[in-house]
Amino acid sequence: MAHEEQRDQVIWACRELARLGLTAGTAGNVSVRIPESNLIAASPSSVRYETMRVEDVCVVDVDSGDLIEGERNPTSELLMHLAVHRARPDDVGAVIHAHCVQVTALSLLGRDIPPIMDEQVAILGGEVRLCPHSLPGSQALADAVVEHLGDRRAVMLAHHGMLGVGRDAVQAITVCHMTERLAQIMLAVIPHGEPSVIPAEVQELERIYYDIQVRRKVGRRTSS
Ligand SMILES: [Zn+2]
Repeated sequence: MAHEEQRDQVIWACRELARLGLTAGTAGNVSVRIPESNLIAASPSSVRYETMRVEDVCVVDVDSGDLIEGERNPTSELLMHLAVHRARPDDVGAVIHAHCVQVTALSLLGRDIPPIMDEQVAILGGEVRLCPHSLPGSQALADAVVEHLGDRRAVMLAHHGMLGVGRDAVQAITVCHMTERLAQIMLAVIPHGEPSVIPAEVQELERIYYDIQVRRKVGRRTSS
């Protein structure tokens, strides 16, 4: 079967979302870019993660959104995945959308996550902004997600959840897990006062490290 490696990564990431408690039921969705092509492997709509098979995973053209391979319909949030892959072709190899509890709770307070934790800037690129509510599955939501994600790796979706990106599925899972923990910390602190942020000079150093990582194109070895 074509693109089995990337389709396997989609299934792995879906199961990690469930194992880490980052989403409920089949509510999360994952896409992985297929190297040297304009295609992604994308999770199917409404298939249980534990029974998902390689042939259930869709292969979709990033420009047209057409289904190229697969027996199922792609995720209902396909437009969001396509928009991010089009906007960040060089540094994004995987996109994950999840309905995390802590992130969604924080979104109800209308708060961004400022740079509060060491490694946040180095891994996520800085603050995590809150994207205002739009209809799930809509182009309006896809456009707003791209705008609020900017050049960073995580964005919160008001009344909904989050979207995280990475060079590959492993990094995208790390991004989602870290964002959920940041939201948990914010919710623990807010009742007691305004969260403090890490020192500006540390933010600058971490951002330099992040920029070096981002400039390495997807598909190159990270050790080179
Ligand atoms: Zn959703």
